[in-house]
Amino acid sequence: MTAGRYAPSPSGDLHVGNLRTALLAWLFARSTGREFLLRVEDLDRVQDGAEARQLTDLAAIGLDWDGPVVRQSGRAGLYADALSRLDVYECYCTRREILSAPSAPHAPEGAYPGTCRDLTEAEREARRRDRPAALRLRSTVRSYTVADELHGEYTGAVDDVVLRRGDGTYAYNLAVVVDDAAQGVDQVVRGDDLLSSAPRQAYLASLLGAAPPRYAHVPMVLGPNGVRLAKRDGAVTLAERGGPSVVLPELAGSLGLRGSTPAEMLDGFDPAALPTEPWTLPL
Ligand code: GLU
Repeated sequence: MTAGRYAPSPSGDLHVGNLRTALLAWLFARSTGREFLLRVEDLDRVQDGAEARQLTDLAAIGLDWDGPVVRQSGRAGLYADALSRLDVYECYCTRREILSAPSAPHAPEGAYPGTCRDLTEAEREARRRDRPAALRLRSTVRSYTVADELHGEYTGAVDDVVLRRGDGTYAYNLAVVVDDAAQGVDQVVRGDDLLSSAPRQAYLASLLGAAPPRYAHVPMVLGPNGVRLAKRDGAVTLAERGGPSVVLPELAGSLGLRGSTPAEMLDGFDPAALPTEPWTLPL
């Protein structure tokens, strides 16, 4: 089985930018004969009731998905198993400590400086008393290259990414890779704010023996101030904008597609013809 997916975090209502990305993920999957899966990324940032409203809105704009909705909160066993197969080390750094540590020579901007990478067992023992340890990947590369439908070959930094946080929560970067591999997802369509995460995720996939997915990082939707659309920008949810009969034509127009339903938009869908610039939502 090959599949695409949409993987929202249930942190609030979906806005038009999220709906546009979901529509694109569906179009990419369906136009290539793939299954389309829905995965709720509820390891953190969960708002009561948001998941149900998100699923309702996705169905209301005409998206359908295969099989049951998968929730990350029920998959800790899979993440633990993956973690046990990776070379990891304990990290006791706070965010502040990381920011103030001198960066390692030649390390990419923002990379973890490696403070806890080579501690002795005695040092670890002492630091464990300060706070619960996060687990970081002992990466053996500094960069990795992925193939992207819209960005071509993209090379980005890989550092010792956190795989499990100090509070025991599995990190998004681990969960997303484990789930995509376990679910047969070989096509990842999502907002291009995550493009820079793709190299570390593809690297993690390779360490777990999984083939990297084919990526398509699609342009963001911007609010009136020229930055990524946010709830506070005003009328941005499906209901606030007047429902599917208003939003679907708006999304189709912004993508240069014909049709007023996703099924109609499939006709003539061509990734190569998609706009590569962000779309500013008229408000
Ligand atoms: N759950 C992530 C988000 O809502 C998306 C992750 C992904 O598509 O890989 O931003």
